Amino acid sequence: MRIAAPSVRARLTLWHAGVLAIIICLFSAGALLFVRARLYRALDEQIAQDLATIEKVYREETGDLGELDHRMGMTLFEVAEGPTVIYRTTSWPPPATRPYRIRTSADATHRVSVARDETALRQTLWTLTVVFVMGIPCALSLAMAGGYLLAGRVLAPVGAMAETARRITAESLSARLPVDNPRDEFGRLAGVFNATLSRLEAAFEQLRRFTADASHELRTPLTGIRSIGEVALQRSLTAPEYREVVASMLEEVDRLTRLVENLLLLTRAEAGRIPLTRTVVDISELVGSVSDGLRVLADEKDQTWTVDVAQSVTAVCDGGILRHGVTNLLYNAIKYTPSKGMIRIATVQAPAGGAVIEVEDTGPGIASAHRERIFERFYRIDAARSRDSGGVGLGLAIARWAVEANGGRIELDSEEGRGALFRIVLPPF
Ligand code: ADP
Repeated sequence: MRIAAPSVRARLTLWHAGVLAIIICLFSAGALLFVRARLYRALDEQIAQDLATIEKVYREETGDLGELDHRMGMTLFEVAEGPTVIYRTTSWPPPATRPYRIRTSADATHRVSVARDETALRQTLWTLTVVFVMGIPCALSLAMAGGYLLAGRVLAPVGAMAETARRITAESLSARLPVDNPRDEFGRLAGVFNATLSRLEAAFEQLRRFTADASHELRTPLTGIRSIGEVALQRSLTAPEYREVVASMLEEVDRLTRLVENLLLLTRAEAGRIPLTRTVVDISELVGSVSDGLRVLADEKDQTWTVDVAQSVTAVCDGGILRHGVTNLLYNAIKYTPSKGMIRIATVQAPAGGAVIEVEDTGPGIASAHRERIFERFYRIDAARSRDSGGVGLGLAIARWAVEANGGRIELDSEEGRGALFRIVLPPF
């Protein structure tokens, strides 16, 4: 059978009482031994004095021992010369009914013995012992009661924290634990807990927003498909017209597929479920191949496409993941730069050994107010325009993840109306 562990309060009280009991017992025993030694030393000094007085009287005049006996009152003594007793008090040897302390001094001719009653001394010691034996449990009980109350008071914040923590759910993540004194141990604990709650709240809020945004974005193409279908059903169409309807629907399905793929990619990336395989990657080659794939889109918009890659720029990274980043930046450049604009892609080996990829365009640029936020999921500067061109605001979030997962960062140089320059900076290896 297991005995339930006692509460912290009970443990504190018991420890406190245990330590106190040891201290009090040691102190009492020490005091008792000390007092006992002092009392016996005083008694022995008195007996030594008695012996000296008797010796003196004995040497000077034997006849005065009787008078001395009278003077010394309770002290018993005997003076003998060999087997002959010279003098002895009435009750000698001392009666066995009472405790006596006997000391003898002797030389070749005579022997003096003195006995003093030590009942009073023993009584004093006994009284002291009784005081200690009765007092220690009383003191300990008081200390335990006091300790229990004190522990209760000290631990009260823990109870309050537990009570608040119990009431916190996903819906009430804004609640915080009470902090009485932020500098004491409990205050610091509550502070750490509150900081964790703040992070959780922020993460939850982000998740909630993400879900809401994702649902909203998913609804748009679905509504599109439905309305195209409904309109088509209301009229009888010719075969080419039906083909057109199906093509429009497929376009929406494409948009839906891209969105779902991007969502999946971001979610898996954030859960850390996309393993990175780092190898030495020829960055110029990677940028060249992405550029070849997208160039046709720029050609469609009559944009000038300049590829300016240095020879053998390399970095240690996961090429597949980095490709997502480069693709999205280039795709945005094409998307947001008007017809006849210019797009430049360049790679540079940084002097310190890192690799830099630049994507520059002559599009509308990005105002400083939006510069940080465009990397957030679902953030678009002009939602309507962006959606028309097929964007839902995930491209840059994915690009940032793709670069940061590889240990790099994305920098942005842009002024409104003056084009944009995105720079991927990869660390040296
Ligand atoms: P989207 O899918 O809407 O393109 P992104 O995350 O790729 O989403 O970009 C977020 C927003 O940043 C876009 O809506 C757009 O307004 C702005 N943006 C991105 N790239 C450029 C660029 N090269 N020039 C101007 N604006 C851009």
